[in-house]
Parts: sequence; C-alpha cells; structure tokens
Amino acid sequence: MGCNGDCSSCSEKSKNCNTDLREKPNRYSSVKKIIGVVSGKGGVGKSMVTALLASTMQKRGYKCGILDADITGPSIPKMFGIHGQARGTEEGLFPSSSKKGMKVMSSQLLLERETDPVVWRGPVIAGLVRQFWTDVIWDGIDYLFVDMPPGTGDVPLTVFQSIGVDGIVIVTSPQQLVSMIVEKAVKMAEMMKIEVLGIVENMSYVECGDCGKKIEVFGHSNIDEVAKRHKVEVLDRMPIDSRLSTLSDQGDIESFDKDLLKNTCDKLEALPVNVLNVAVLMNKDGEVSSFEKEANLNVYSTVKRMVISGKGFNEITDLVGLLKECKVHVLIAKELNNQLKQELEKAGILLRDSYNGPAQSVLRDYLVGSEEKEDEATSKCDGCDGDCSSCNK
Ligand code: ADP
Repeated sequence: MGCNGDCSSCSEKSKNCNTDLREKPNRYSSVKKIIGVVSGKGGVGKSMVTALLASTMQKRGYKCGILDADITGPSIPKMFGIHGQARGTEEGLFPSSSKKGMKVMSSQLLLERETDPVVWRGPVIAGLVRQFWTDVIWDGIDYLFVDMPPGTGDVPLTVFQSIGVDGIVIVTSPQQLVSMIVEKAVKMAEMMKIEVLGIVENMSYVECGDCGKKIEVFGHSNIDEVAKRHKVEVLDRMPIDSRLSTLSDQGDIESFDKDLLKNTCDKLEALPVNVLNVAVLMNKDGEVSSFEKEANLNVYSTVKRMVISGKGFNEITDLVGLLKECKVHVLIAKELNNQLKQELEKAGILLRDSYNGPAQSVLRDYLVGSEEKEDEATSKCDGCDGDCSSCNK
C-alpha cells in the first residue's frame, strides 16, 4: 500500500511485496531501449539535449522516438516542426512523425489549439504520461527517449515506476546548484534501480567565432568534483550555440550538424540489448501448427522484425538445425511428438505448445511478454470459446 518503491524505509519489506509497478506497452509496440533525460529545474536545456540525443542516434542509423513527459511545458514537437493533432485508432495512438522520421508523442499533440495551456493537476498528468507508454504504438523503436518533467517530484517518480527506463542522463548547467541536483537525481535512480548513464553539462561555454577560445560565461563549473563524489561520469559538455536555439525555434533541430553528444551516444550504443528470438510453426492458414510437411517456420526477433522463414521440412533434424542456426530461444508450436521435444530440449530451445489460433497474434502477444495470455491459453478447455458463463465443463 502506498509503495514508493523505496524498500529501505519500508516495514512491509518482509512480506514479499511486488515493487515492480511497470506497465505493459501497447501490444503493437516494440522498443529496445528507453532512456530518461532528467534535470533539476526547467530551462537548462533538457529538451534540447533530448532532441539532440534522439536525432544523433537517428543519424547513426537507429530508429528513435521521443516520449515528451514534460506535460505542462512540452517543447519537443515544436523543435521538430511537428504540428496538428496526433491520430489514433482503436488499437492505440500513433506518434507523430517529423520530416526526417522522428516519432514524437506529446501533450502538445493532443490539444485542439497549440496555444491552449495545459492546466491539469498532478494525478491527471501522471496518468497521461503512463498512457503515452501503454496506449501509444511505438513500433520498431531502437531508442525511446523520455523528456522528463523537471525536478524529482511525483510525476518523474510515476514515470520511472510505470515505464521500464534502462538508464538516465542528467542535464545540468554551470550556474545551477549542481551538487544538490545531481545528488537528488542519483538517489532517485538508486531508489528506482535505474542506471545513471552520466551527466551532460549544457551551456558550459561559448566558443569565440574568431579565435576558437572557449569562454566560460557562467564561471568555472565544479561538475567534475560533483560527478566524482557521486561516482558518475561527465559524458559531454555542450556550448551555448545560437544555431541550436534558432534551429529549434524554426522546427528544424534535426538539421543541426555538429556532433556535440558523441560520448553520450557512444554510451547508449554500448548498452546491452536483450535479444529474444522466437520461432513459430504455422500451417497454410497462418495458424499455430504441429510439425508437418507443409508447415512454415517463421523466426522473429525482438531486435529485428522478421529474420527468416523456412518451409517444407522432411526431417526433424532439418527443423532443429534451422532453429539452431537462427539462434532461436523459443519455439511456439503445438502437438509435437516426443522425439522432436527431446531434440529441442537437447538444443536448449524452450517449447511453448499451449497456444492456439493465428500465429501472428500469438507471436505478438508472446513478444509483448503477455504471460497472462499464456496462462489463459493453458487453462482453456477443448473447443473453448472463452465464454465460461455458458459452459458446463
Ligand atoms: P528545459 O527542457 O530544460 O526546460 P530547453 O531545452 O527548453 O530547456 O531550453 C531552454 C531554452 O534554451 C530554449 O529556448 C533552447 O532553445 C535554449 N537552449 C538550450 N540549450 C542551448 C544551447 N546549448 N545553446 C543555445 N540555446 C540553448
């Protein structure tokens, strides 16, 4: 009850409580890594850093999206020249796309008029951020950046609890009370068991156009000492550059061509990705099937969509050979004979044989991590239509 995820001060910790409050994404979403961008207060360039990180990673060949969790001060759509309202269907809400393909969801894209203020209270705001994760279709995203609301209050806490963030980047500027802000952010990340990837110091200096000298307009910052004290890394220092604010005002931040966040992006690239390769055997009607001559084998991965598709297996060894070659971890099929089951076990391939129905939706459910669906499928009776109220079994 009233859990804030901090077990150290909790009297109920012995009761085997479940502190994982993460919400499931939309069933059509696939997101590999989620990076939170946080700051102590508004105006230090958190949105600027989020926008640059996303567009730099996009230029490196990754498909990126930005979840603008700064509900009351949304600035991401404007920086990417995205206007108008987001579209949706019964399946979910689609993020809007910039000219260069950046996917964005923001409270700004839900307002009737761009100039309307967002006047919602805390719980509504937190609920909306949650929905940006559960209801929005983040399709095939390599890196999803979350532009967090400033501070370490209620809304950021809810975001961290409901969205499984893989790491955070802390944005500061030299004139801030850096020590306190870094300490707060590090403590919050510790509480939520999230890795602090490092610090980006924005507005660190101005570079003289004539001689290239770096002038520290806000004085010399003590970011290195602070970072050392909290055992975090200073990844990059960004200058004040009028082209950044001009391009952002013009809705064309993606055209900024300097690589100001190289170390941070290298760090993001080095983050390990959990890969899961899932294969499904299906018959000619696209239903999950047993091992039969005409069966199709489709292999999917959480990293790439469809990897390979095979057909016409004469021998069990052909099938198992292909599964091994494709480094398949899980096979979805039904009614397999004992010999095949043993071969799969020998190869260390997990068998999921309790699913029925169209292979595509079974697979999608499986990849989204829908354990309930698995339980449901196992508990179904023969010829079950799912309506227990009229069932006499
Ligand atoms: P936050 O998200 O922390 O509130 P923003 O990213 O919206 O801050 O930045 C505040 C303002 O400062 C914006 O007008 C932005 O264009 C400008 N700005 C941010 N970083 C820089 C920079 N390095 N050089 C020039 N202008 C910047």
